[in-house]
Amino acid sequence: MIITLTDDADLNAVRAALSELGLWVHEFGGRRGTTQFLVRPYSGHVDPAALLSVPGVADVSEQPRRHPLVDAQPAEVRIGGTRIGGDAAPVLMAGPCSVESEDQIHTVARRLAELGARFLRGGAFKPRTSPYDFQGFGKEALDWLRDAADAHGLQVVTEAMSESTMADVAEVADLIQIGSRNMHNTPLLQAAGRTGKPVLVKRGMAATVDEWLAAGEYCLEAGAPAVVFCERGIRSFDVRTRNFLDLASVALLRHVHRQPVIVDPSHALGRRDLVLPLGRAAIAAGAAGLLVEVHPNPGAALSDGPQAVSFELAGELAALTRGDRPAFLAGES
Ligand code: PEP
Ligand code: MN
Repeated sequence: MIITLTDDADLNAVRAALSELGLWVHEFGGRRGTTQFLVRPYSGHVDPAALLSVPGVADVSEQPRRHPLVDAQPAEVRIGGTRIGGDAAPVLMAGPCSVESEDQIHTVARRLAELGARFLRGGAFKPRTSPYDFQGFGKEALDWLRDAADAHGLQVVTEAMSESTMADVAEVADLIQIGSRNMHNTPLLQAAGRTGKPVLVKRGMAATVDEWLAAGEYCLEAGAPAVVFCERGIRSFDVRTRNFLDLASVALLRHVHRQPVIVDPSHALGRRDLVLPLGRAAIAAGAAGLLVEVHPNPGAALSDGPQAVSFELAGELAALTRGDRPAFLAGES
């Protein structure tokens, strides 16, 4: 926001009053009579009308919003019958990295449904670093995924990698996943939005929070009824974990931008032994759910085996997402 001061304003007093209201005063300029402060709320939303009552403030104007549709999206969205975000209980979205066979995905769906998961995940089209790695079974795997989800009352979240296969993905998905590598692919974001399905926007591995929110804006602007954001780790200097799980961004999206945001500790950590503790931390930071890779035999997985958890561990993750939100989060929305 830009605040213009009156001729006789006491600059220090106005500064102090604005800070008191939760605003960060960035800079000021202009001549006497046209002095302006550029201010930004450092937490939550500050009503411009409240600023006009500060002695010395003549005018308040809002800068154009970068992502107005995202800003207008409610904290809680509904995907099919599932509430995500706001005061809703955290949801579990889980399944293998890749859909490997009809049998594999049915087994996983059955076990996850018993645990209380709401969404079955699994890639049919896989973004792989090397062209020699397993690329997914494509359209056939989409059908296996849908059948398995239907047989066990689950919803489907799966990745769309290209505009040419978007229609096939949209036909089976309840939530279309845009992967980290494609978060900046604006035609793909628009194509996902045009299907009229909700979109899960994974954060690009080198994307700022504002770029991530803008990616969500592309989907909503193109027609998506809702977007859910997913933090999956960003690149850092340290390679001890596959990525760096940025829980500060989760808290920002949840508590400042009031967006439904889930966390994928599997791709963030790249190792199964840390998925549960970071899953807990994610919920504490405000995550509306977890997206986790689960495999019946992680050692034999065709992709991302080292980070896939067993059904036993999936049970512990599911317990985090069942029932009410943890007591220490009560009242926060
Ligand atoms: C995935 O979810 O399987 C995946 C490839 O994720 P990301 O885009 O976060 O790497
Ligand atoms: Mn994976």
